[in-house]
Amino acid sequence: MSFVRQAIRVSCRAVVPRRMFLTEGPSSTRQGGSHHHGAEIALTFDDGPDPETTPGLLELLEKWHISATFFLIGEKAARYRDIVYQIVAAGHGLGNHSYTHSEPNQTSTTRFLDEIRKTRDLLEEISNQPCTLVRPPKGTLTTGKQLGLWKQRMTIALWNTDPRDYQMRSQQQAAEWGAAYQPCGGDIVLLHDNHPWASHIVQALATNSDQASHVTYVRLSEWV
Ligand SMILES: [Zn+2]
Repeated sequence: MSFVRQAIRVSCRAVVPRRMFLTEGPSSTRQGGSHHHGAEIALTFDDGPDPETTPGLLELLEKWHISATFFLIGEKAARYRDIVYQIVAAGHGLGNHSYTHSEPNQTSTTRFLDEIRKTRDLLEEISNQPCTLVRPPKGTLTTGKQLGLWKQRMTIALWNTDPRDYQMRSQQQAAEWGAAYQPCGGDIVLLHDNHPWASHIVQALATNSDQASHVTYVRLSEWV
């Protein structure tokens, strides 16, 4: 994580309400702590919808009764509307991950905000629900982009747990991460449903009996 991004996160977390800037949920109590309902954590899936991998992931989430949040790329959502309908019908949350996943340092503030608006309009049209969660590509924002999002009353949603699933090379690697992860209440886990490893991580989380009985999976909108 770049120093600047970390600095923004630390300062925002200190002074800005979660409705504006979300990097973790309301509780940081460790698993096994005082929560009789267990730790609430949020799984988030970026860069979809993907016709190869998202439908299988949705089946797995349904099987294990896991709710999640999908940060969709607008142009993919336009192309694979049927998958977006499936995500919504299954009760998952939607978030905005820009229209083209444009490279942050090559994208002007105006173009970035246009992409966000266009994606928001599309997702609200498809889902018939307000869609105010935004995760900028690579989690990177300038001050101008950040203020522009807040002007549109959007919630900037980053993460605090990154297994780097997109760099994984085997099912075993994904399963090992899922088995070793110690859930902490309020964790926001960054995953990518355009890669197969996200499903293997979900499977490992769901079948790790130590964790499964202590963890409740929530949509990010429940924390805003
Ligand atoms: Zn992304």
